[in-house]
Formats: sequence, C-alpha cells, structure tokens
Amino acid sequence: METPERSAAEVKAPSAPAASHAPASAGANPGANVPGASSSGAGAACAVDTAAAEAGIPPECASIVRLAKLDELLALGRANSLWPLTFGLACCAIEMMAAGASRFDISRFGAEVFRPSPRQADVMIVAGTINRKMALAVKTLYDQMPEPKWVIALGNCAISGGPFVFPGQYAVVEGVDKLFPVDVYVPGCPPRPEALIEGILALEEKITGKRRWPRVPPQ
Ligand code: SF4
Repeated sequence: METPERSAAEVKAPSAPAASHAPASAGANPGANVPGASSSGAGAACAVDTAAAEAGIPPECASIVRLAKLDELLALGRANSLWPLTFGLACCAIEMMAAGASRFDISRFGAEVFRPSPRQADVMIVAGTINRKMALAVKTLYDQMPEPKWVIALGNCAISGGPFVFPGQYAVVEGVDKLFPVDVYVPGCPPRPEALIEGILALEEKITGKRRWPRVPPQ
C-alpha cells in the first residue's frame, strides 16, 4: 500500500464545520475566534449591534459585548486548551517532543499540557509506527479518553504504515484509521514540529469553524 500523498495537514471528517478562510488582513484581529465577533467589517458589526440591542444591551456597550451560543463558547475553550495524551510510538514522537520544547513551544496554542492518563486527555497524537502487537494497547488508550476527543495522525507511519509497508509484511498496522477515526493527518517522515503545529491549528479550525491565522501560501 502506498503512502497517501497529502500536501499539508488536512482535515478529514466531512462533519467539520464550514471554515472561514479569512483574508490576510484578518490575521491580526484578536477577536477573530470569538463567536459572534467577525473581522469582516461593517456588516458584521451591524449584526452584532443588532443582536446586542435585541438583548437589551446599551449601544455604548455594544462594542465590548460579545453574544455567543454556549456550544460556541465550549468549542472555543476546547480548541484553545487541547490536552494531548503523553504517548509516542517511534521516531515521530521525537518531533512531537521538540514541538513541546522551548524552540517551537506549543504552549503558545494552549496544547502543551501533555497528560499522563487518557482519562484527562482530549487529543491523541499518534506519533510513530503502530506495530500489530501494540494496536490493542493504542485502541484501549483511545477508548479510555472521554468525549469529545480528537486524533492527529503524525507522520507517514501513523497515516499509512510509512516505509514499513511492502508486499507480505505482517507486523505493522497500515494506518491508525484502521483502528479508530482520525481528524487531522500530518504527513512526513518525520514531519517537522512546525507541521505538527499546523496540524493543531487545523484541529482548532475543525472544532471552532474558524482559522486562528490565515494560511501562508507556499513560496
Ligand atoms: S514516519 Fe518516519 S520518522 Fe515517523 S515513525 Fe515512521 S519511520 Fe519514523
């Protein structure tokens, strides 16, 4: 089985909310992820003002009041405080550790609280080769995570078996999505820590429906 080619971390599930790929000018807006807020200009501001007026909020306070549904607030909190499971299977886990260290520092995105127990984690970063004798343990850890939970497949081994796939091989699971659903795929052998960060941003986008920063097109 060949390694699937994916040009960047991508969101798989069709149930992902419609993402709003804001123009570059939206990147500096600190309220871009606030439900009910928008960076798209006067029309959105009028919508917020109207909603505030309907809620009885004085016009002078409308610019600082944000109205949001509870689900959107929960999604915002979850997306900005992802707690990964402390869990590595092979070389890709070294890149995951580098992403958590000072040079890349995923605490900038609220995702640095690696938990030692699956019962306290909400995202599993599958980093490395999944040997068949490990598959049951990986599945058990996934099952022990509480809902809502998400999975990032980090590296070609987790995506499709990577370089260990050849005719007749019997030792490696050819993709973690053979065990449970995957939300974000981060290709590479290994992917760099920046790629994992992009995967976390893609997962945030899946959870909230909004992009934290605009994508930078390839040079
Ligand atoms: S994808 Fe490459 S770097 Fe990552 S676990 Fe497999 S062999 Fe190692």
